[in-house]
Amino acid sequence: MKPFQSPACARCAKALGKTCCEPRGTEHLAMVTRADIARISEHTRLAARRFTQEDGVTEAGAADFEARWPLYRGYFRRGPVRTLLLARNGSCIFHERTRGCTLPMDVRPIACRLYPFDKWADGSWSLAVGRYGDLSAARAEGGACLAVEEAESMEEVLTAFGTTREAVEALGAQLAEEARSHGRG
Ligand code: SF4
Ligand code: SF4
Repeated sequence: MKPFQSPACARCAKALGKTCCEPRGTEHLAMVTRADIARISEHTRLAARRFTQEDGVTEAGAADFEARWPLYRGYFRRGPVRTLLLARNGSCIFHERTRGCTLPMDVRPIACRLYPFDKWADGSWSLAVGRYGDLSAARAEGGACLAVEEAESMEEVLTAFGTTREAVEALGAQLAEEARSHGRG
């Protein structure tokens, strides 16, 4: 649950059984950059190992990921290891069941601030609205975002999150720069 982003976030756990801050099965939390970690450490006074975990992938998997998700190009330049937010007892360590994310918006990882928006390999920011057809299917499949499921268009999702295409693109540009910098070491 990411309060203050969308009213849907407050209803998400009930409607879908969990929020995007509560991974289940093979799902994982956001990939973070060194810039994200520095902002969180400065705010919380926690060392990185208290809220992140390293996850090794294959060389081919890293190359495929960067090809699929252009905002992360250069992230794996130092090697096929990604840094993920740490989940404990089924949720992000910064998640509280009643309050949602306890980090201020400007401290949250950029990937969390961008979600559910992402840039595709063709450069578009399209969203698969109504991907699951109905909420019970979305609940059963997992990986859904309630705000996206309830919308009919990308514009409606932007409105639901009180943001604009320009703001999303600016955040995406920041993530792309910080991912490149992450890979430079
Ligand atoms: S999945 Fe979507 S609606 Fe649910 S908490 Fe996350 S951003 Fe909000
Ligand atoms: S940092 Fe906040 S928004 Fe991101 S996964 Fe954790 S609780 Fe959710």
